[in-house]
Amino acid sequence: MPKALVVEDEAKIARFLELELTHEGYQVKVVGDGRAGLAQAAEWKPDVMILDLMLPGLSGIEVCRRIRQSEKGSRLPILMLTAKDDISDKVMGLDMGADDYMTKPFAIEELLARMRVMLARGARGRSVSGETLSAGALTLTPRSHEAALDGQPLQLTKKEYDLLLCLMSHSGEALTRDFLLENVWGYSYDGDNNVVDVYVRYLRNKIDAAAGERYIHTIRGVGYMFRHERY
Ligand code: CA
Repeated sequence: MPKALVVEDEAKIARFLELELTHEGYQVKVVGDGRAGLAQAAEWKPDVMILDLMLPGLSGIEVCRRIRQSEKGSRLPILMLTAKDDISDKVMGLDMGADDYMTKPFAIEELLARMRVMLARGARGRSVSGETLSAGALTLTPRSHEAALDGQPLQLTKKEYDLLLCLMSHSGEALTRDFLLENVWGYSYDGDNNVVDVYVRYLRNKIDAAAGERYIHTIRGVGYMFRHERY
């Protein structure tokens, strides 16, 4: 049963969501402010989060930003809700890493459909459209095609960037050279898969060596895994 965390301070909407989501087969937890939402995202480990934008304590945008910065919650699918039909809030919410966005009042069927999409996407590896990925001092912003270490832009070639994006969006997973080859170089690539090792070395020189921290790990007999680790 997927766990849905609802962070909403308007009691009527919170209660409505709780009933509908429970009926839909979710295990539901409701909290009414941003700090509680942040705490439950870490402790209860939901599969999906519905996050209101205007909240007491921390705003939805701030909650979203902090979740994306945390190691554990960084992949949690987040659907943001707002009463305001304001394009700047929408853009900011998506920039801070929300996966989707709905304006109140919303149709419950549409919300449920979008949650199903987010869960399915999460299950097969996260789509990284527009979302900033971060780990330790490293950030990567697919929307602008930029990577930075300690806030300083990293000069990456196209292939280095693509490889890093692939590794980061599967953070914590051991990836084979063939998987990386197919996803970064494409199925049509018929060269040697040593090219993966060569590019991993390039990335390690630019990232791990520069940061003095380990990001790209060799998994013996398999390939590579991205995971931030301090020495
Ligand atoms: Ca609110």
